[in-house]
Amino acid sequence: MKSLTKSKPLKTFLCLFLILFLVGELKAQSPVQYDIVLEGGRVIDPETKLDAIKNVGILNNRIAQISSEPLQGKEIINVSGLVVAPGFIDLHVHGMTNVEQEYQLHDGVTTALELESGIEFTGAWYASRQGNALIHYGASVNWPFERFRSMEKYQESLGQLLELVQKRENNLESLWHIVAPSFTEVLTAEEMDRTLANIKSSLEEGGLGIGVPIGYLPSTPPDEMYSVFELAGQLDALVYTHNRYPDILSIQEVIANATLTGAPLHIVHLNSMALGQIDFALHMVSAAAQKGYDITTELYPYTAASTGLMTAIFNEGWQEKLGIDYGDLQLVTTGERLTQETFARNRRTNQTVIIHLMKPEWIQKGIAAPGVIIASDGMTYSKLAHPRTAGTFSRTLGKYVREDKVIDLNTAIEKMTLLPANRLEGIAPMMRFKGRIQVGSDADITVFDPKTIIDKATFEGGLAFSEGVEYVMVNGTFVLKNGRTVPNVFPGQGVYGKFKNK
Ligand SMILES: [Zn+2]
Repeated sequence: MKSLTKSKPLKTFLCLFLILFLVGELKAQSPVQYDIVLEGGRVIDPETKLDAIKNVGILNNRIAQISSEPLQGKEIINVSGLVVAPGFIDLHVHGMTNVEQEYQLHDGVTTALELESGIEFTGAWYASRQGNALIHYGASVNWPFERFRSMEKYQESLGQLLELVQKRENNLESLWHIVAPSFTEVLTAEEMDRTLANIKSSLEEGGLGIGVPIGYLPSTPPDEMYSVFELAGQLDALVYTHNRYPDILSIQEVIANATLTGAPLHIVHLNSMALGQIDFALHMVSAAAQKGYDITTELYPYTAASTGLMTAIFNEGWQEKLGIDYGDLQLVTTGERLTQETFARNRRTNQTVIIHLMKPEWIQKGIAAPGVIIASDGMTYSKLAHPRTAGTFSRTLGKYVREDKVIDLNTAIEKMTLLPANRLEGIAPMMRFKGRIQVGSDADITVFDPKTIIDKATFEGGLAFSEGVEYVMVNGTFVLKNGRTVPNVFPGQGVYGKFKNK
């Protein structure tokens, strides 16, 4: 009894407290005003498997709410009928100025990284892009450059190259002219030590792992290659390889190096590395992954490759290695097909060519294979540059998903967003916030029409903006609206590796 009489006032007090608390809660829950609301789109998140009509609220550069309820915002955009996907992440671009970035953003890309070759003067290059990039940028440490600068005899050319980087005029071609003479040099023991020390210090400037395009330096002794993998294994720094030759033995070489040294490995453009052996190549990569090795691969959705004529890819015997002839090469400056005579003439000036060498079924197999990432290998701007530079992602969604039904929409989105983000999380922890549409993720968002999205760049007509990408948001800022570039916004941020000195 005693306890009952005592409990009365306590009950009353509790009720009063509850009412006051609820009133307070209601006040606190007065609708949040988001910076931007994307209303009524089909929201697809490859990690949580969300695929539903939702409203997405963006606040302070992050995704703050995903809801079926109406949301209030300073700017509300109706995106019904469109897909709201994480911004596409491209692990493999060579063209990195805003000229190429504009093509990339029309293709839905919000992060474009040069990982195959990497960048010269890592820290200076990151600094040169700060505050002026349309989309997110980043690069690996460039192994050919780090070995070049380990050699006494090339010290004089270093200043020239640094100036190009600072003026943002460096590209694959400038690298070639200055660094390529060193590609056939065999390193002394001291130069090898210096190369490894250089790689380490460039990683500390923010590099996203190590770019090892050995296909451009195929005379590199296997033990030099192995030493670079060994360093990568010790540091847990991701290695990206363009293999020594386009054949199976070269794929086995990098897999052997990675498994023996513990280096995480990403093999770039498996389509042009494996050619007709794509089935066996895919089998080896997935077998390695199933055994727990950190090995992945990527491809671009085209049947032609592209590179400079002066590169080692066109050394004696290229016709047999690639299974093609002069007429399969097409100049990017004019579109003309080459002959023995025009090949020799254009090789002297390292003209870039498109190499028609793959079969459509090889590409389909690569795209359909689980775990294979889509990456463009986008080139430096030139009117007739390889169309992958502008159309890789829209082509995958338009041709391979909608028209040819090689994979479904959700799987394709996963290969362009979550998988590349996952691939980089070990080396760049900030990638945990990209490649997802989740509360707390970075507001890097691509909104496209699945019924119309398609690439427009062609081998004959040259580069053109893709169609069907309606909105692209980078770090909470629209860079593309109603299919048009928003002028004078530069929200792109650097993506840095975990070794970066604070
Ligand atoms: Zn390559």
